[in-house]
Amino acid sequence: MKIASVRAYPISMPLAVPRWTAHELMKSASVILVEVRTDDGLVGYGQVHGSPLKEICDWIARFGELVAGMDALGHLQVWEKLFALTSPRPGGVRARDGLPPPLPRASRPQVMAAIGGIDIALWDIKGKAAGVPVYRLLGGANRPIFTYATGGQYYEGAALDDCARELAAFVANGYRAVKLKCCGEAMTDEVERVRATRAAIGPDTLLMLDMNAPYALDDCIKFAHAVEPFGIHWLEEPLHWYLQPADFARLAAETSIPLAHCERELTRFSVRDFLANGSVYFVQFDSTRHAGFTESLRIAGLAEQFGVRIAPHQAPELHAHLCAAFPAASFGVESNGNRERDPLWYGMYTRRPEIRASQVHLDDVPGFGIEIDWDFVRRYQA
Ligand SMILES: [Mg+2]
Repeated sequence: MKIASVRAYPISMPLAVPRWTAHELMKSASVILVEVRTDDGLVGYGQVHGSPLKEICDWIARFGELVAGMDALGHLQVWEKLFALTSPRPGGVRARDGLPPPLPRASRPQVMAAIGGIDIALWDIKGKAAGVPVYRLLGGANRPIFTYATGGQYYEGAALDDCARELAAFVANGYRAVKLKCCGEAMTDEVERVRATRAAIGPDTLLMLDMNAPYALDDCIKFAHAVEPFGIHWLEEPLHWYLQPADFARLAAETSIPLAHCERELTRFSVRDFLANGSVYFVQFDSTRHAGFTESLRIAGLAEQFGVRIAPHQAPELHAHLCAAFPAASFGVESNGNRERDPLWYGMYTRRPEIRASQVHLDDVPGFGIEIDWDFVRRYQA
């Protein structure tokens, strides 16, 4: 079975109300759907979350030409072939070996995103070819996978404690764990948001804080101490983007709250040292941002050995399969509490897993078990 074609569909849906994280303004919900077809008629779907959409789509198209004719079940060969192009190589000068020249450094995030999208589609094909869901390919059982709901972004004109009502509504709808976006306002205001949220969701709901990298080490230690009384399950992306595993280790030594990280790492190689030095207790590598399902599996295997919990970032329809394959090492997957938070989850599929009572329920449909709503894709094609 050979790869016949690869195609990217960029999708962008305007949000009814634009919102902020601590880092950025979001005006739309965007994804790139990656379609891989085989010469015997199977079709697999992957997805990419990244930007710019156009640049990633261009890389997907270019890589599609490079992998056409390769074994559609040989995901490692495909992954390694594309990944190898990201580094200089003997014979790569002037592309004398017949492959493209080494890919530009400045495009690394987009290149790794494109590799990931194709890789995920190949896993969907692998499941469909075998007639089983991906979690079964990996030896996992069909069991509910724990999920939490993320909310608390900043809206124009919103009151400081609106986040508390938003997250309490997730709990009222059955979620047993919620994650608050935070640290976009002054530290005293943020501590108040956390206090109000804990009061609104009650003592038994897990509460995580997604900080989006707002602090240097000394301020982060102050913030961690200030929120420790509110029973925080993890601090996510606590430190500035340029700080390193050694800095996370210093933070981890100063607070009783476990750290969660790695949703923006490009490969397993940069994740490794966060696991090895014991600083990160929840690893959040995202198949759909970089490097795909294959790389997530490698990271999950490493995390299990280091006693780190697997908590993949977004895309519960894909990452629940991963967690099913690591029942003892997984915390669970991220999802969104309502349609306003994640219009793509509610609009893009005619079939996908159900989320009920803080659990993702996978079924026995081959591959990732998703079917695309093509009317939706056409309507919001970017
Ligand atoms: Mg995050």
